[in-house]
Amino acid sequence: MLQLEPTTAIEKTPLARYVAPAKPSLIGFSRAQLAEALGAAGVPEPQRKMRVQQLWHWIYFRGVTSFEAMSSVSKELRAALAERYTLERPEIVAEQISVDGTRKWLLRLPGDAESGLPHEIECVYIPDTDRGTLCVSSQVGCTLNCSFCHTGTQRLVRNLTAGEIVGQLMMARDRLGDWPGAMRPTDGVIPSGDRCITNIVMMGMGEPLYNFDAVRDALLIVADGEGIGISKRRITLSTSGVVPEIERAGREIGCMLAVSLHAVRDELRNELVPLNRKYPIATLLQACRDYPGASNAKRITFEYVMLKNVNDSIEDAKALVRLLKGIPAKINLIPFNPWPGSKYECSDWEQIEKFSQVVFDAGYASPVRTPRGRDILAACGQLKSATEKLSARERMALRAMAMTD
Ligand code: SAH
Ligand code: SF4
Repeated sequence: MLQLEPTTAIEKTPLARYVAPAKPSLIGFSRAQLAEALGAAGVPEPQRKMRVQQLWHWIYFRGVTSFEAMSSVSKELRAALAERYTLERPEIVAEQISVDGTRKWLLRLPGDAESGLPHEIECVYIPDTDRGTLCVSSQVGCTLNCSFCHTGTQRLVRNLTAGEIVGQLMMARDRLGDWPGAMRPTDGVIPSGDRCITNIVMMGMGEPLYNFDAVRDALLIVADGEGIGISKRRITLSTSGVVPEIERAGREIGCMLAVSLHAVRDELRNELVPLNRKYPIATLLQACRDYPGASNAKRITFEYVMLKNVNDSIEDAKALVRLLKGIPAKINLIPFNPWPGSKYECSDWEQIEKFSQVVFDAGYASPVRTPRGRDILAACGQLKSATEKLSARERMALRAMAMTD
């Protein structure tokens, strides 16, 4: 009898839940939430606005890690706050520095006592001469099942809180000495300007538009000019195509948008990005056309992972530029980053060049994204926490792949 391959489910159900720590961290609190926290610490209403400004400055502009350091805040209030809150960032379990300066942190978040499993995420820093990009996670794992993505194979999934999202950036700035007056590390590569982290990409683990509110609240804090102050033009949210939330992202967050397209035909995209069965290419591109604020100066990035003999033909390249006609777009060709057990191979370099020539001839500049941090498995889609550690055999396979790269 003919056995049909079972179709992969579009998504799995989240397996873990967030359990708030007894003493919450103020990291990720909005101004309104800080005002409430101050109220709980006994600050009368009329004083709260001014106190919020102070806290905001100490937490998000100066990056202090203790209430003690807030010298403009009275001793009594510092003590009252410390009794109820912390300024904790996600706990660093491991830090790896790649030969190219890429840094990857494995972070542990409060887990669920019931399951006993730790919740872990990864956060990656990619320095360049003139910029430093932080790749931030939005979920522990991902409920979606893109067939080429390592994160999609992780079973444990939960949404991050706004604090855990902002916390990744705070942690990275701590480690990079990226606060006023702090010391820069002497190892690795750091960009030349006065900021180590100049850009944020929501391209770590998880689908950011499946955790809309927390991602929005976190990014609005990150972009706030009186605190961390990273311009919305330098914040990019990448989605696999959660169509109903795209317009809202433009309206309520107003950051740059990247869309993981990866295929030009629904049949193939259904396989690579199963969410396509819910929101097919035409619907997705219409949402892009309607993205608030999209213009030639504020283009949408279309990500396209190069999979050997799967989506990398010249016909595909031509179809891609035809498909994007009329949309203010950038095209980002991503060489596939293999992971142990993945069924795809990265396209040959000559094929990537031929493909990118078609894209270039159609008027799109610098389309290939160089893979970074391969030696520490920090590249796109390779993020997967140590809860599911690689076996020795998998590591060997990976090294072999890296060598033949
Ligand atoms: N969930 C979001 C954001 C995280 S993934 C999304 O899918 O867009 C960030 C980017 O890395 C996406 O474009 C994703 O398709 C790509 N990616 C995933 N696995 C990859 C792999 N193994 N090699 C190269 N790119 C990969
Ligand atoms: Fe999730 Fe993005 Fe990976 Fe797809 S590519 S499984 S949406 S993280």
